[in-house]
Amino acid sequence: MTARIIDGKAIAARLRAEAAEAVKLLPAQPALAVVLVGDDPASQVYVASKIKQTAEIGMRSVEVRLPAQTAEDDLIQNVAELSADPEIDGILVQLPLPKHISEARVLAALDPLKDVDGLTEASAGKLVLGKPGLRPCTPAGCVILAKSERPDLAGANVVVIGRSILVGKPAALLFLEQNATVTLAHSRTRDLRMVCRGADILVAAVGRPEMVRGDWIRPGAIVIDVGINRVPAPEKGPGKTKLVGDVAFEEACAVAAAVTPVPGGVGPMTIACLLRNCVLAACARRGWTVPETLAAG
Ligand code: NDP
Repeated sequence: MTARIIDGKAIAARLRAEAAEAVKLLPAQPALAVVLVGDDPASQVYVASKIKQTAEIGMRSVEVRLPAQTAEDDLIQNVAELSADPEIDGILVQLPLPKHISEARVLAALDPLKDVDGLTEASAGKLVLGKPGLRPCTPAGCVILAKSERPDLAGANVVVIGRSILVGKPAALLFLEQNATVTLAHSRTRDLRMVCRGADILVAAVGRPEMVRGDWIRPGAIVIDVGINRVPAPEKGPGKTKLVGDVAFEEACAVAAAVTPVPGGVGPMTIACLLRNCVLAACARRGWTVPETLAAG
């Protein structure tokens, strides 16, 4: 078998187009505030990309850049001001923050109605309770990619490897919301290979390059690879590197029905879901009707 490659770029582009259509129908332009502390190169790339795509779908963005040595209280003050600003609909604090700053304290200052990353305690609580709310972006992207292959996830056996607050745990809850039967695996799981072989849908969010091998995958399964790992690529030349996922891609393609590539799978979905969340946040806070293009998803 040769698996279908799930085209995250194309699906993300469709989501962005839907968000852009929705923005046109709103009474005013939603605004996203992006807060970046320090000069981590990867974070700078992510933030630039988020700001560019915000503009592309017709929303306004406000960039707040603070030096790496910013005091925790000053950052909290900034986030609190953005939370109180009626012109701001979504706030994204780019993680990770410098080590001297508590992410939990900063997120606590963020108005849950503007929590477009879905990371505050209020958003997590709504997810657990099954109440409407802003869902974390990467896990939401995983569900959309899985549904692109299998629109009805009811009864599907989903195995999520990784239980982080950012990805694994919310992914498990989102698949549960879809009425899947969910197993949440982690570093203490016994016989992970056999657990994974029970999956109709296997979501790998571990951060270990190509850990999931072909013989961990049930023939015909759908594989969603969240991992982004930079590894040496001597075949490209001395000192060169490349990105790989948590799944051995070629091996997975020989067994699975469908696989997400890295890059070009889950990655593009994260920003698309963020933009979607920003439109939803604006509608919820300002009492606007959610345009139909977004209401369905
Ligand atoms: P974390 O390091 O926070 O969590 C990793 C999880 O994997 C933990 O729950 C850990 O278990 C589990 N784990 C580690 N080793 C093993 C093992 N040998 N067997 C089974 N489970 C194991 O990572 P994140 O969740 O933040 O990210 C995971 C990956 O996803 C990374 O590669 C990251 O770069 C990528 N990522 C991609 C995004 C995207 O947009 N595509 C967005 C966010 C992350 P335990 O809890 O027991 O320690």
